[in-house]
Amino acid sequence: MMAKGDTTRVSCSLRGTLLLVSGLHIGCAPGARGSENGAAITRFVRDHQGRPFIPGSTLRGAIRFQCERGIRAWSSDSGGSIWTCDPIGSPGKSGERARIPCSLIKAAPCSVCGLFGSKRNTSRLWIRDLNLSDPWSESLSQIRSTLGISRSKRIGIDSSARQVEMIPAGLKFSFEVLVSEPEDWELGLLFWAMDEIGGGICRLGGGRRLGLGHVALSMDRLEVLGVGSNLKPRTEVYLPKIEARKPKEEASEDVSTKLGIRKPSTDDMSAVVHYCLRMIESEGAKADAGEIGKTLAEHFGLTKKKRQELGLPEKVSGILDTLVADNVLQKTHLGRYGISPGYTPHIDGGVGEESVASKELGRLTIDEFAANCKNALIGLVFPDVEEDSNA
Ligand SMILES: [Zn+2]
Repeated sequence: MMAKGDTTRVSCSLRGTLLLVSGLHIGCAPGARGSENGAAITRFVRDHQGRPFIPGSTLRGAIRFQCERGIRAWSSDSGGSIWTCDPIGSPGKSGERARIPCSLIKAAPCSVCGLFGSKRNTSRLWIRDLNLSDPWSESLSQIRSTLGISRSKRIGIDSSARQVEMIPAGLKFSFEVLVSEPEDWELGLLFWAMDEIGGGICRLGGGRRLGLGHVALSMDRLEVLGVGSNLKPRTEVYLPKIEARKPKEEASEDVSTKLGIRKPSTDDMSAVVHYCLRMIESEGAKADAGEIGKTLAEHFGLTKKKRQELGLPEKVSGILDTLVADNVLQKTHLGRYGISPGYTPHIDGGVGEESVASKELGRLTIDEFAANCKNALIGLVFPDVEEDSNA
């Protein structure tokens, strides 16, 4: 994808949040099952700190399944450029490629195995284990009991009694999907599959017949890293569109309204410097260390003395160096500063932050990027369909 100029290798990192819409059960290894009140109990899988996590392979399997399901639904014939093999098929009389697993054919893998890998080719997609981003307390753990019913005798079967440990709806996990050298349509397929999972038909983990495993995925940040033939990395960052919040009445005359962001508190230096840069920008001046220092003192009272009191670096350049190292700021060779492309200020009640994140930098948002990729997929799957010019 996006092989512009001398860019020859591209990789993508897609980070986001997985929200539990229903309870979730992902069982740990059978050896650690144990039993309670005579019924076998399957515990939720835990990390080394005892916190529940979602194995990356669980999400990966669900996304792969959706990709296969989608492609089978779209391409009824076996001649299209986007197709999927049958992972559990066997070479039969028909000889149709879509009925045989890729591992058994000596040709290029199908569209899904090409991305997720098969016995004959390595994967180009990895998903890290998903860590809980909310605080965890053991009191959140719940036990669900199940009992098999004999249909003929119409009674419960005692020996079938099971207990599963589940974690409740509302918890959030962070995820990261890494893809090596994806085509636009492959990312389109990935975005489509992730949307489908949020629809609730595809569920994660065990106890799905108990109504568990419904999750929703939202994307927080997409990074595309291109490495050119001269091995110079170039990163493009896409962020979701942030809903602009309405400014409060009393703040309407404030300079904050003019800048489109609310004045932050001085305990968030990134946001403070971001605010100063916007202010300098609005006055048509170029932001260098001296100009930023002046703005810090005038608008936040952060004079040299005050900075010392707060334990901040005495020199403005010290503060700025830290922010450059954290990738919040970018420094040009002229010693001027700008807001780093990936930086989103965490300013409560801000307005119009979206313009900073995307519009002013001339970038697409994740939604726009995903829509372009999905269009690339649609163009390949349904080549005869004319593109809607209003889309
Ligand atoms: Zn395949």
